[in-house]
Amino acid sequence: MELIIKEKEVKSILTKSNLPVSDYSVTPYIGCTHGCRYCYASFMKRFTNHSEDWGEFLDVKLWPEIKNMDKYRGKELFLGSVTDPYNPQEETYLRTQTLLKQLQGSGVKLTIQTKSDLVLRDIDLIKTFPDARVGFSINTLDEDFKNDMDQAVSIERRLTAMKQLHDAGIRTTCFIAPIFPGITDVEAIIDRVKDQCNLIWLENLNLRGSYKTDILGYIKEKHPHLVPLYEEIYLRGNRLYWEALDSTLHSYLSEHKLDYVRNDDSMARPFDAPPVVVNFFYHEEIKKSAKKRMK
Ligand code: SF4
Repeated sequence: MELIIKEKEVKSILTKSNLPVSDYSVTPYIGCTHGCRYCYASFMKRFTNHSEDWGEFLDVKLWPEIKNMDKYRGKELFLGSVTDPYNPQEETYLRTQTLLKQLQGSGVKLTIQTKSDLVLRDIDLIKTFPDARVGFSINTLDEDFKNDMDQAVSIERRLTAMKQLHDAGIRTTCFIAPIFPGITDVEAIIDRVKDQCNLIWLENLNLRGSYKTDILGYIKEKHPHLVPLYEEIYLRGNRLYWEALDSTLHSYLSEHKLDYVRNDDSMARPFDAPPVVVNFFYHEEIKKSAKKRMK
């Protein structure tokens, strides 16, 4: 596969965010070379005039110095919503590291989301931000399934990096997403990470846009016994699987004395407290219908 990399000058780098967890978001790159097959961010292609497949292009953003830093004090900044800020090319282009250096001392609350252990390179820098946290996306412990789905570093490397950051006193998140019905073993992942993270987020697999056909084709080829389940969920809109999983998790988490909630309050808890588990199933649809109700 040939990767097309271009540098692109932009006027500014911080944008107001409509994510539930942040005031601002940053995308130091357009595109993402992890090329996850389920990537909802692949819609970005439409807006950036890229004809290449998702994962096969990367625009490296170059921006001027950040001004009015005071306005970011105490605000939440999310890094990693539609790209991985620590994609392998960050090693060369250092755009994420540049951004962190520019924002040092601003008082912004940093949340980084990644699938890479390259984030360890910036550990000293990250530590200088108040209440910084670093999240790792882990939706399986099975490296074969991971390799079928993304080109990022192994799950083991992500788990090791998460532990190193946590040991260094940085808050960590395990983002169990997207949960693949019948494939993602949520309990096994929680069991593996519960002593090295402060927050566990759960999000169901959404299938929309161009990757729906690809994922359903993959299930048919590699997990044919799951075809009826996927058809029920993704062709007929049946949510019983998620309701059953929710109820199983309630019992599992109460047995393990972990809080299971809908809103993240992990920042209010001491660093050493057990992680809080946040259920984010269907949050986008819930948000949309709440907006409609308010109109
Ligand atoms: S790491 Fe995130 S942004 Fe990058 S391809 Fe995967 S899902 Fe998309």
